[in-house]
Amino acid sequence: MARQPQLYLDNNATTPLRPDAVSAMQLAMGPPSNPSSVHGYGRAARMIVEEARAEIAMLAGCRGADLVFTSGGTEANNLALSMFDTIITSAVEHDSVMQAAPDAKRIPVDSEGRVDLAALGEMLDSLDDAARPRTLVSVMTANNETGVIQPVDEIVALAKSAGVTVHSDMVQALGKQHLDFAGSGLDFASLSAHKIGGPAGVGALLVRPGRAMTSLLRGGGQEQGRRSGTENVIGIAGFGGAAKAAFDDIAHYRAMAAWRDGLEARLASQRNDAVLFGAGADRLGNTSCLSIEDRSSETLVMALDLAGVAVSAGAACSSGKVHESHVLKAMKAGVHAGRAIRISGGWNSGEADFERLAEVLVAL
Ligand code: PLP
Repeated sequence: MARQPQLYLDNNATTPLRPDAVSAMQLAMGPPSNPSSVHGYGRAARMIVEEARAEIAMLAGCRGADLVFTSGGTEANNLALSMFDTIITSAVEHDSVMQAAPDAKRIPVDSEGRVDLAALGEMLDSLDDAARPRTLVSVMTANNETGVIQPVDEIVALAKSAGVTVHSDMVQALGKQHLDFAGSGLDFASLSAHKIGGPAGVGALLVRPGRAMTSLLRGGGQEQGRRSGTENVIGIAGFGGAAKAAFDDIAHYRAMAAWRDGLEARLASQRNDAVLFGAGADRLGNTSCLSIEDRSSETLVMALDLAGVAVSAGAACSSGKVHESHVLKAMKAGVHAGRAIRISGGWNSGEADFERLAEVLVAL
């Protein structure tokens, strides 16, 4: 069996399950669980789904009624984008947005990875009036590679004054900062369970109250006709358990920013070849994106794996192959686009983990 790395700092890829998610799933496992069934088993399953919905809604700052369960962040992003003819998105979105809208107009970002609001304004100004109701602006709340937080309030204000709908991929932001979907002015937002200590394969699309939507999956009319398919009750239970725990844990991510900054400061002072990405912007506290030496991301990730630390390349696609990061390219990182690694702490990461990684990187 392959040797397991002892230190896991790749939580933006996925997180270990939180104990609360495990126990919620264990409780849901076993009985026949179709929440649409009217008998006792069905009603018990419905209760599990609705309790989880309430926990997740609390974490995201919305009403349970405005949350549509999906098979993950990818489906939530695809569902949001599928409702529109014209898409304006940033150049640094997750592939589930980039690939779902290959013809999208892409808002450029500055060298720190923040979207260029003036460019967005110009794109909105150039829209035909007739196109506006069928246009979506989709910009992520926080980036998965760099942790850079986008100016969502300003983006919403620009989109609204142009009469255009707005969506945000909140997958990486959920549980790491306070979110207020209801007060944000957003029409749609995407969530995923496995980035907050829940299981993979379950997520949600948040929908502004009263906002009509068309569904991608049609069939039995579950989720108020907005997403057909029997609900993944066990996965949803795990999502709810993770959300409940994450709600009480946001301070942990704030503390992590200091540990992350400590790692970056140590690298900057002890290695003159260290380059940080997005460090001049507002960032998630758990994420650091950097390169050292002129090694490729792949070589660096492998060297760290041998040293017992699991991190990821700036961008690794699902096949595990590393390609140049489109995010870093958009940030004009030049050759570094193929050299960056991403370090991302999670709910069970501590200060000592960041210190140990700093030691390994300094010694490398
Ligand atoms: N959006 C962002 C920003 C992500 O980081 C990810 C996962 O890496 C996704 C969407 C996709 O979520 P899921 O893995 O649940 O499909």
